[in-house]
Amino acid sequence: MPQKHWSQAQRLSRIRPLSDRFWSKVSKTEACWPWIGQLTKSGYGRIDMRPSPGVHFALFAHRISWEIHNGPIPNGLRILHKCDNPKCVNPDHLFIGTQLDNIADMVAKGRNVRGVKFSHAKLNAEKVIKIRELYKRGDRTMQILTYEFEVSRTLISKVISGKNWTHVPISTVNRSPEYLPT
Ligand SMILES: [Zn+2]
Repeated sequence: MPQKHWSQAQRLSRIRPLSDRFWSKVSKTEACWPWIGQLTKSGYGRIDMRPSPGVHFALFAHRISWEIHNGPIPNGLRILHKCDNPKCVNPDHLFIGTQLDNIADMVAKGRNVRGVKFSHAKLNAEKVIKIRELYKRGDRTMQILTYEFEVSRTLISKVISGKNWTHVPISTVNRSPEYLPT
């Protein structure tokens, strides 16, 4: 996944400054600032970028908000919600953390209540299709899928690349648009 951040995307955006696009889709309230533009399947605000013909990726609105208010996000760090409202872009409701903080936060908020087992995989065709779909749509990173489906990262990677579960056909549609990490 490309590690673009918004200032780079800004240079790629020839139509309208990204900050203008951002503010035009924010509904400020006393508490959360819900994103009123497009959402990802997981409910995060997104801005679609088509910097040149055939190039299409999406930026997360809450990450853009963080960068507007706090500056660039160091590589590999995540922007998390204190308010557990994925479409909120209020900078006071956001905090920066690592992928492990992200997982700890998900567990704390009950999004993964069964705990994590990395023992031998229990996948079935239905789950394999789901994993491939979620990844392809850009709704999940491999890391998150690892926790969600309680299987090893290696297995997730093999399932996605089609090295495992070869009898379950892989759709030929590309993972699109590319999402940045949350
Ligand atoms: Zn909020």
